[in-house]
Amino acid sequence: MQKEFFNNRVIVKVGDITQEKADAIVNAANSTLLGGGGVDGAIHARGGKRILEECREIRKNKFPDGLPTGEAVITSGGNLLTRFVIHTVGPIYRMNAGKEAKLLAKCYVNSLALAVENNLQTVAFPSISTGAFAYPKSEAAQVSSKSIEEFLSANETIEQVRLVFFSEPDALLFVKHQAFVLA
Ligand code: ADP
Repeated sequence: MQKEFFNNRVIVKVGDITQEKADAIVNAANSTLLGGGGVDGAIHARGGKRILEECREIRKNKFPDGLPTGEAVITSGGNLLTRFVIHTVGPIYRMNAGKEAKLLAKCYVNSLALAVENNLQTVAFPSISTGAFAYPKSEAAQVSSKSIEEFLSANETIEQVRLVFFSEPDALLFVKHQAFVLA
């Protein structure tokens, strides 16, 4: 399935994000930036060691204590089909004293802001925090759609945001719970 929102500037699709051809894909990283399971593991496995080396440099030079939740950094795309990987750390559900929605929104907004700073036009996101970090998928759908719509309303340079779900049921659940105003 594939579905469009926001005058086709947002595409919802099913797939493996490591196979996406876009200017950047977003990694649902953890604060260490040194790899993990889920999307993170898949991106590093396919992207090769250059991405990890750049992440190590970022840790050393900018975030010795780890990347805070909601923030985003950018590396090259290594062996992936994308020029860049934007790494963001989603909130672990129920570990953020009621601030999870705000933090999840920050992941999307800060990732898109980094894309704009780097003159990128197409960005693909996985469903941040909804795997190991246990954010309920229906709630995440509302938060991500609202924050993306708000960002795109105030921006003209991003041509397309792709929301890539690993399974068809996940994509359909997103479509059911999203809060886009513009179809
Ligand atoms: P988090 O730690 O932020 O929860 P996960 O990687 O555990 O991140 O999961 C985030 C979402 O990404 C989950 O919904 C999971 O099904 C999905 N996912 C896992 N691997 C891939 C992949 N290769 N491409 C797209 N989505 C993926």
